[in-house]
Amino acid sequence: VCPTGAIAEKDNTEEVFQAIADPKKYVIVQTAPSVRAGLGEAFGLPIGTNVEGKMVAALRRLGFDKVFDTDIAADLTIMEEAHEFIERVQNGGTLPMVTSCSPGWIKYCEHYFPDMTDNLSTCKSPMQMFGATTKTYYAEKMGINPKDIFMVAIMPCTAKKFEIGRLDQDAAGVPDVDVSLTVRELGRMIERVGIDFSSLPDEDFDSPLGISTGAAVIFGATGGVMEAALRTAVETLTGEELEKVDFTEVRGTKGIKEATYHVAGMDVKVAVASGLRNAKELLTKVKNGEADYHFIEIMGCPGGCVNGGGMPQVPANVRNFTDVRALRAKVLYDLDAGMPIRKSHDNPAIKELYDTYFGKPGSHKAHEILHTSYVKRSVN
Ligand code: SF4
Repeated sequence: VCPTGAIAEKDNTEEVFQAIADPKKYVIVQTAPSVRAGLGEAFGLPIGTNVEGKMVAALRRLGFDKVFDTDIAADLTIMEEAHEFIERVQNGGTLPMVTSCSPGWIKYCEHYFPDMTDNLSTCKSPMQMFGATTKTYYAEKMGINPKDIFMVAIMPCTAKKFEIGRLDQDAAGVPDVDVSLTVRELGRMIERVGIDFSSLPDEDFDSPLGISTGAAVIFGATGGVMEAALRTAVETLTGEELEKVDFTEVRGTKGIKEATYHVAGMDVKVAVASGLRNAKELLTKVKNGEADYHFIEIMGCPGGCVNGGGMPQVPANVRNFTDVRALRAKVLYDLDAGMPIRKSHDNPAIKELYDTYFGKPGSHKAHEILHTSYVKRSVN
């Protein structure tokens, strides 16, 4: 809480309650990977409790027409991003390519490293890809006018509220996402309607936009996007199935991580940074020619989205003695390890999306709907 009262947290819950109550609106909710690793804390459950099933049940009881998982759009992001990376490597594109799913990082890059915006992947974030896909592909498939769809995103993030109003975030001529709520706001909504969260049964996401992979769920932890992208990029480049899908070198809560992988006759150098101080240190080295990478993952928050500004707040006396980031990240890595499909390109729902709608990764249609552009801003 701001000590002077000059900054108030933006609360959009009322807009969502109104949309749910409006019979003309088809209200769809999507939930980011890390939400399931933090929402339980809002109801007194221990840090590191996976509440995916109860979260889905609570959203249904709140009255959403469909409860989908942002994770499928994380798989879609990987398909597009891995393809973009391979294209840049093979055709002399701008390297290192830097991930683009963290709006806190993107806005920082635009202000403080405007000469490096060409390094950013042009992929929209999974939240925006999900909204864009819902209001184009899903709307067409279901015969719904995209104008009647009200897309709500539950995110671990406060910067997502800014992201939904950025340039190019309206693939169907209406905003890809209408409202982005934090995990804290969702907790307040559940409390306000009197749902007893802890005693809810576990329920599953709706189909088809609820089918996802282990690669997608680890997006919520620092290093997760890199690992997911490597799983797909390496198999695409080599044409062979990976013996081991775990790229453990990029895991963990260290601020900057580096690794080199030998892939198809080439040494691919990667780096992962979380927290803007670490991002600045890493990019300054790249700009000064002191480091040389092909692919970089950057997340605005230290530890990634599991430690995002929209997650339940942990009191200092607990935070000082508990590695909150590691406990929440473990939820996601445990989920990944137990999933039947762990690579984005093996997701059957993704295959269907490309077969019936986008064609192939990087197609003209995919670019129109799933990619974006950036603004070179000044510090002032
Ligand atoms: Fe938002 Fe932080 Fe996650 Fe970036 S790392 S998407 S700023 S919560």
